[in-house]
Amino acid sequence: MSKRHPAGRHFLQIPGPSPIPDRILRATNRQVIDHRGPEFATLGLTVLAGMQRIFQTRHPIIIYPSSGTGAWEAALVNTCSPGDRVLMVETGHFAILWKKIAERLGLLPEFIPGDWRHAIDPAQIAQHLAADSAHTIRAVACVHNETATGITSDIQAIRAAIDSVGHPALLMVDTISGLGAMPYQHDAWGVDVSIAGSQKGLMMPSGLSFHALSPKALEASKSARLPRGYWAWDEILAANVRGFWPSTPSTNLFFGLVEAIQMLEEEGLEQVFARHARHAAATRAAVARWHLEVLCQDPACHSPVVTAVLMPEAHDADRLREIALEHFDLSLGMGLSKMAGRVFRIGHLGDINDLTLIGALAGVEMALGLAGVPHERGGVQVAMDYLRETA
Ligand SMILES: *Cc1c(COP(=O)(O)O)cnc(C)c1O
Repeated sequence: MSKRHPAGRHFLQIPGPSPIPDRILRATNRQVIDHRGPEFATLGLTVLAGMQRIFQTRHPIIIYPSSGTGAWEAALVNTCSPGDRVLMVETGHFAILWKKIAERLGLLPEFIPGDWRHAIDPAQIAQHLAADSAHTIRAVACVHNETATGITSDIQAIRAAIDSVGHPALLMVDTISGLGAMPYQHDAWGVDVSIAGSQKGLMMPSGLSFHALSPKALEASKSARLPRGYWAWDEILAANVRGFWPSTPSTNLFFGLVEAIQMLEEEGLEQVFARHARHAAATRAAVARWHLEVLCQDPACHSPVVTAVLMPEAHDADRLREIALEHFDLSLGMGLSKMAGRVFRIGHLGDINDLTLIGALAGVEMALGLAGVPHERGGVQVAMDYLRETA
């Protein structure tokens, strides 16, 4: 059924792509420039240096014209050889997808099972690596913020677990939905390959993906034997020295990225992170009042960018999402793979403020009523109270 054009802005409360600030949209809306010319060189060097600050690294950054999935593949092909073992953890849907890529590339992922309700247990990683006395596991590959579940894992603790057993595996971290919205320190945390994307915490259109590298990852890439052409770091890094790329870069997205980095730095990263954490807390307060359950069962590991909410038995999350869209022009995130129909996800990232969040929560609360989902009303009031008290 098609509806007449709704007035007002669409509420895009999915956990990425996130709503894009007008400043960034306007920045991308420019005539393209010569990607081999001097003006571009300045742009290229500016975005590379800016992303070093966002990743908090002094080491090289790679920018690909791809979605995050491309950067997953790129991280593996640059560092691994056919048949390498890679230790991965089933945090949720995105961890499963990354593992599939590893399998398709001829790697041997070992998957520590998870229940989708808890963060990664670093002790399990230590235990697994300790059993690998021949050091045949090439890499530990973890999802920092599992967007499917709304659960964040402690990367520093995972690094410490790897070090505690003296294992030389590389640490690769998918922070595709974390970077720019929650603390992340590539160098200080000892990550070898950090992976990010443009369309989540960075508030950009989709189409750029990123790596932050460590010297150890660069060293590993010299002896890694998986075939790589387009994704190869060496040619990109050689061109990047002067601010260029081997093939045509996404120039207009770079215009937007300059603006995105500037916005994050004008506000201050610490404030940006606090803003997301506060919106997440307000959202959880509403969920608690509704007497619904948040999927994450680790109180210390709630994601600041997305809250996954479990539906009561026999109620369909997708029906609720349909109602929210149809009546209130509100898009909520769907449950992915084994959570399909069982959870809906509220994204609280990108170009939103207190009132956007309250509007979104009001849409959820009204949709719960229309869908006949048993719940306590007043979640919006509780979220308003929280935002007022912490204003
Ligand atoms: C969105 C997302 C991806 C996939 O990125 P695409 O840009 O859709 O390819 C991977 N991992 C996480 C954690 C994500 O949130």
